[in-house]
Amino acid sequence: MLIDTHAHLNFSAYKNDLDEVMQRIIDDGMRVINVGSQYSTSERAVKLANEHPGVCYAAIGLHPIHLFDMEVDEAEMPFTTRQEKFSAERYQALARDPHVVAIGEMGLDYFHRPPKIKEEEFERAQRWTFLKGVQLAMKLRLPIILHCRGAKGDEHRPYLHMLKVLKEAGYSRGVLHCFTADWPIAKQFLDAGFMISFTGVITYPKTKLLEEAVKKTPLDRLMVETDAPYLAPQMVRGKRNEPRFVRYVADRVAELKGITYEEVEEQTGKNATEFFRLR
Ligand SMILES: [Zn+2]
Repeated sequence: MLIDTHAHLNFSAYKNDLDEVMQRIIDDGMRVINVGSQYSTSERAVKLANEHPGVCYAAIGLHPIHLFDMEVDEAEMPFTTRQEKFSAERYQALARDPHVVAIGEMGLDYFHRPPKIKEEEFERAQRWTFLKGVQLAMKLRLPIILHCRGAKGDEHRPYLHMLKVLKEAGYSRGVLHCFTADWPIAKQFLDAGFMISFTGVITYPKTKLLEEAVKKTPLDRLMVETDAPYLAPQMVRGKRNEPRFVRYVADRVAELKGITYEEVEEQTGKNATEFFRLR
């Protein structure tokens, strides 16, 4: 089964035609995990999952870019973030809904630093919030969807910080979403027990290092996702992304690994079903 393990149909990019996008998912017999990036979008992911049981599932969490007010220019879809302080109690109450299958996305993002915030304060606040998210996932026995992005020229540092937090907490039930780093980083996470998930970025030209990571990540540790509305695959690049385009990601995984599309669809679907315990 084709499963988009990370989309944001809960975002305003779909406010005008969500019904049509949803119908295409249903027609394709797919499943989608809608991921929250702050409390309001987490709540909305839960609502969508309740409206479409067996098709949509929810992940709830606070993305690190929402810890500070700032302007973000995400793949030509600029937005202003509103500051939120993580409340484990509030998220825990939301997680009582049985359609919530994961905590996330949470993690470290050293890429988007507002100029007025000092680096040290910025990173410390992120690590604190991330640890709270990990602790909540552990308490609720839910997997965690990990977001990690480094500053230009300093790509590895947040991954190492993240791994340190996870190892100290003793938790490995997580997936590194939208993986865009290199094989040595992927290997460290795989060795520590984590899953790796790839987006349409693997369909873009000039991604040699990433291609190596796709080739070397074992198929039973790999998942596919769109991160829609962002990161539309090369074939539909420039458009708003949507869950059905995850097939282009699966197709590229098949091409890079020299196996069939059907094998990738079946195994990644099985991986996602087990990892998120989808019913
Ligand atoms: Zn995302």
